[in-house]
Amino acid sequence: MLEVLRSGAMSGTDITAKFELEFAQWQKTEFALGFNNGTSAIQAAMFGCGVGVGDEVICPSITYWASCLSSYSLGATPVFADIDPNTLCIDPNDIEHRITDHTKAIIVVHYVGYPCDMDPIMQIAHKRGIKVIEDVSHAQGGLYKGKNVGSIGDVGAMSLMSAKAFAVGEAGMLVTNNREIYERAIAFSHYERYGDRIQTESLKPYQGLPLGGYKYRMHQMSSAVGRVQLRHYDERMAEIQKAMNYFWDNLEGQPGIRAHRPDIVSGSTMGGWYFPHALYVPEELDGLSVTAFCNALRDQGCKICTPGCNSALHLHPLFNTCDVYGHGKPTRIANTERDVRQPEGSLPISEGIGARTFAVPWFKHYRPEIIDEYIAAFKAVIANYKRLLATDPGNPPMLGNWHFFKHS
Ligand SMILES: *Cc1c(COP(=O)(O)O)cnc(C)c1O
Repeated sequence: MLEVLRSGAMSGTDITAKFELEFAQWQKTEFALGFNNGTSAIQAAMFGCGVGVGDEVICPSITYWASCLSSYSLGATPVFADIDPNTLCIDPNDIEHRITDHTKAIIVVHYVGYPCDMDPIMQIAHKRGIKVIEDVSHAQGGLYKGKNVGSIGDVGAMSLMSAKAFAVGEAGMLVTNNREIYERAIAFSHYERYGDRIQTESLKPYQGLPLGGYKYRMHQMSSAVGRVQLRHYDERMAEIQKAMNYFWDNLEGQPGIRAHRPDIVSGSTMGGWYFPHALYVPEELDGLSVTAFCNALRDQGCKICTPGCNSALHLHPLFNTCDVYGHGKPTRIANTERDVRQPEGSLPISEGIGARTFAVPWFKHYRPEIIDEYIAAFKAVIANYKRLLATDPGNPPMLGNWHFFKHS
């Protein structure tokens, strides 16, 4: 960091280029390209896959808006798929019937660390000739059946902002084994690197100016932090995994709650367990609402335990009525031949998931004596659940939010 400051290299690319090389090696992809944030990395990944005017991208409704919203500014639109209530990730069985001649890509999100079921998704994409973009913002370092998430689809893109498990300040990263996607991402938004080294013929005539009209360069204070983070991340991730697995192993079999983590024999992991959640099963607690359950946990001192997760994106007015660019109609359908909007009731799992999940503590250190206190609090609330039924306020009409996770 001090070297960057002393040499006045904040806007250079030499340190970022080193970070990219090291990151690609760690990620096990041929290419890595640094971005100023995850939102821009995802937009460049879409452009890299050829997403343009009139196209559709399939994306889960339960995610942070940046997984798909920048498709609007490419002239494209999202089509939302439902999630699987156990993984909280896109449901592989709810994708194929949504594919049309206009579908260019499926965007999957390894939601709050859980690796998506990539095998069937890749199979569908190959069969239908469309690309897969992995949003890895919640799952850096995670594995799906032993393979690094981010390296399985055609391209991975992710946030490395301060709240994420792999935190470097404000930054994003795109990773791929596909040279054309990599070069299209450079051409889109990295004009100073869009030069003689570009091999893709169709990109050669326009060198020197960014095709997207954007400048998405990573600040080198962040790439310097990133290079150091990379040296420690595997060790930090291992400690988080040990702590979180200890927490959940000790709550195994408790009624009303389930760990949100893949089976250990699958070879899949939760990476850095970004903003971990529990699955909540009210039927096992005589219908006690997740709101009452979390209130009781917070009374016990578990301050982070809030009900719900991200709200279903397809219900937000920005995806239904808002005319962002002056097309004279909602942007969602500005460039499409059919009305792709999805009314209330169309994605039942996404719409109801807020009542069946809640945030749990994100233990970053393996300190059993502290984790044990939380385990005891959870067990106490579950043991006393019958008493909570009498004063259960029920759930509000909407749980969770459309903005961002809060971190304490
Ligand atoms: C944080 C996040 C992003 C956006 O990244 P920024 O660095 O904040 O722009 C994208 N997708 C998901 C799933 C995220 O959580």
